[in-house]
Amino acid sequence: MSQAPHPPELAADRALALAFDVGGTSVRGAVVGAGDVSLAESRVATRTGPAVLDDIAQLGEELLAHLSVAARTRVTGVGVAFPGLVDTESGTSLKAVNLGLVDTPVAAPLAERLRLPVSVSHDTAAAAGAIWVDAGSPSSAFVAVLGTGVAGMTYVEGKPIVGASGQAGELGHLVVDPAGSACSCGLRGCVESRAGARRMLERYAAWGGDPRITGVAELVARTDHDPVAAQVWSEAITALADGFLAVGALLAPGQIILGGGVAEARGRLLEPLRDRMRERAGVTAVPPVRLSSLGARAGLVGAARLALASTGTGA
Ligand SMILES: [Zn+2]
Repeated sequence: MSQAPHPPELAADRALALAFDVGGTSVRGAVVGAGDVSLAESRVATRTGPAVLDDIAQLGEELLAHLSVAARTRVTGVGVAFPGLVDTESGTSLKAVNLGLVDTPVAAPLAERLRLPVSVSHDTAAAAGAIWVDAGSPSSAFVAVLGTGVAGMTYVEGKPIVGASGQAGELGHLVVDPAGSACSCGLRGCVESRAGARRMLERYAAWGGDPRITGVAELVARTDHDPVAAQVWSEAITALADGFLAVGALLAPGQIILGGGVAEARGRLLEPLRDRMRERAGVTAVPPVRLSSLGARAGLVGAARLALASTGTGA
């Protein structure tokens, strides 16, 4: 567990949130205060089935135990960014394929274990919302959350568009190469099958890459001297470019904002992506593309803001 130094704003009597981001590879937890600063952060590997709820609760208990008594009393709520289909009203996971959960209460068991009010949000909504606010809440934007999966949220006139099914912005399963490799969703050549973090690492390994490489940051750092890494990354960039051009053709957003762990590649993502979009745009106008500063913390920050907003203690 890492402990951040206590900056002055955390010494005040401001409310704190216990935040969780339940991802495909790890569950991240943090105690988050003003300015989105973490007092403590920790993570565990994601397990499937109901065990994931035990892991979240235990991580929360450990994070709370790590606080001083005074800080502990300032924690007013819990926010959980959860994958799949979520009923935010009841705090229930309706379907989380990757976690093997169907119709499973999330908020209730956590509230009982942690003795705090719990709010549950869809992970993309939480992360995209945090990225959007961090970017100055632009009236028109497409926010992409690039991590284990690839997802996004469209903002029009300052409001998120969730669509009739609630699944608007599901960029990851837009097919960009019908002859491409199989995706976890059953289709072929989806954006996520090329540009999702897990799939990039799987492709790198399958094509004979260095078996010691376990993270996308390491993969991206090798693209100058490792042709396999360069190929995997280039194909990911092409898939994202085609996906964003489709978004551009349909919605013409004022800007595209990139967040999530894969966006921590910064210039190694942004510059080739802009070039690839221009090369492949045809008649479609290429929207400005920029990076969020939140990176992999977007989900945690979004979950914390949700918890503070729903307990009426947000900034
Ligand atoms: Zn797919």
